[in-house]
Amino acid sequence: MEKINFVKRDNLKTKPRDEELVFGEIFTDYMFVMDYHKEKGWYDPRIVPYAPFEIEPSAMVFHYGQALFEGMKAYRNHKGDIVTFRPMDNFNRLNRSAKRICMPEINVNFVWEALKKLLIIEKDWVPSAKDTSLYIRPFMIATDPLLGVRPSCTYKFFIILSPVGPYYAEGLDPVKIYVEDKYVRATKGGTGDAKVAGNYAASLLAAEKAKAKGYSQVLWLDAADHTFVEEVGAMNIFFKINGKIITAPLDGSILPGITRDSVIKLAKYMGHTVEERDLSIEEVFEANEKGTLEEVFGSGTAAVISPVGVLAFKDKVIQINNNEIGQFTSMMYDKLTSIQLGTEEDIFGWVKKID
Ligand SMILES: *Cc1c(COP(=O)(O)O)cnc(C)c1O
Repeated sequence: MEKINFVKRDNLKTKPRDEELVFGEIFTDYMFVMDYHKEKGWYDPRIVPYAPFEIEPSAMVFHYGQALFEGMKAYRNHKGDIVTFRPMDNFNRLNRSAKRICMPEINVNFVWEALKKLLIIEKDWVPSAKDTSLYIRPFMIATDPLLGVRPSCTYKFFIILSPVGPYYAEGLDPVKIYVEDKYVRATKGGTGDAKVAGNYAASLLAAEKAKAKGYSQVLWLDAADHTFVEEVGAMNIFFKINGKIITAPLDGSILPGITRDSVIKLAKYMGHTVEERDLSIEEVFEANEKGTLEEVFGSGTAAVISPVGVLAFKDKVIQINNNEIGQFTSMMYDKLTSIQLGTEEDIFGWVKKID
């Protein structure tokens, strides 16, 4: 595709101090944008000041929800270089999400070049304190001004950047999770395995109810039987039972997390038994009674690894590992973050340097 135009802004923003960073509230000086038309394909790629833009109130994204996104991070490693983690997996997943809701695919190599260009311009926004990073949010929306229901013919693709601190206020302290037994997030054959905006809208009510009860997230059960554990809001979930690492299989209703895949590959490489299989919530609670439920943790780009300290299901509330981060969970967090920060060998070739 053509050259990426760069439109400079007059004044750069004041950057926050690393210690004040929370998750996703501050945006950098610039963003990447390109447009799509069915006849032309993607056109006019540009890096422009991060700013509001004009869009028709009738734009299809507002009415029928053709919107998808990705989430990845740029880190400043121990040498001060800027690196990203498995970025191509994110762009390939973006294309799978696009297909599922009839949106156009992107050229992953071109968009990777665009992201690198944007990150080089914005390099001073990449924080360096522990547990901070520059969160990268690519997303696509449908822009046809039309109330008829069909796939849009025009789209906009963006990459915006946000310097972030820990995703959960708890940091690496265990979170409390509420097992949802009424609402469902996704069903096989639906859009649960695509990273699309509508999945999140569908999840909000249950999450709000869980929050009101003092829990930070919801653990979703399968939609058909409310029996098997699926995932947690924006994270996949792992259980360590009797020495084995168990997580739900990728069979249509859960998001194929890149962190999930990294945990599985690292765990297997280190000689652990990993099972991707249906795991009922009963089995989890029974294991707890028998004393074989050792650890529970979530995995996702935003939080990396998040230990679960309390699980509540109906009228039962259990504590996992005395509400402390478990050995495997803690080791996995250290491994992943050390690979990202370059202090541990990147045996799988996951880290891509920006130069
Ligand atoms: C993004 C996301 C995840 C985590 O995926 P990663 O690639 O590991 O960041 C898990 N579940 C849902 C629903 C998600 O949207």
